[in-house]
Amino acid sequence: MDFIKNENKYILRLDKGEEIVSTLADFCKENSITLGKITGLGSTNKVKIGLFNTHTKRYSSKEFTGDFEIVNLTGNISTMNKEPYLHIHATISDSNLDAFGGHLNYAIISGTAEIIIESLPGYVDREFSEEIGLNLFKFIKE
Ligand code: FE
Repeated sequence: MDFIKNENKYILRLDKGEEIVSTLADFCKENSITLGKITGLGSTNKVKIGLFNTHTKRYSSKEFTGDFEIVNLTGNISTMNKEPYLHIHATISDSNLDAFGGHLNYAIISGTAEIIIESLPGYVDREFSEEIGLNLFKFIKE
């Protein structure tokens, strides 16, 4: 992985074999990024995406192996328990160019990934909602 910083934006190149979610979480921690947005694209050969079932309050997720384009990666950075918390969704496409997507658990890069992180000032925390079953944004307002 390599990157340059341009004002509040980080332009990253992730390399073959690196896992996107954990690499970005480590990067946020090392660079004290507590709030921000993530956009990106690239390619993967092992990826797990899922859907949150609002009735069972569980994710049904599937791992895919083979060649896939990461058509789009979109996400945000917040914090939970003082740690960076990344929420990322991905659209991937297969050899037929059929695309599908979901909540991203992990993706191993096969070629490269080009990602831009925009760091925003301040922070937004998260709190688990029993009603929804997800860690929701918790805003602290003065
Ligand atoms: Fe999600």
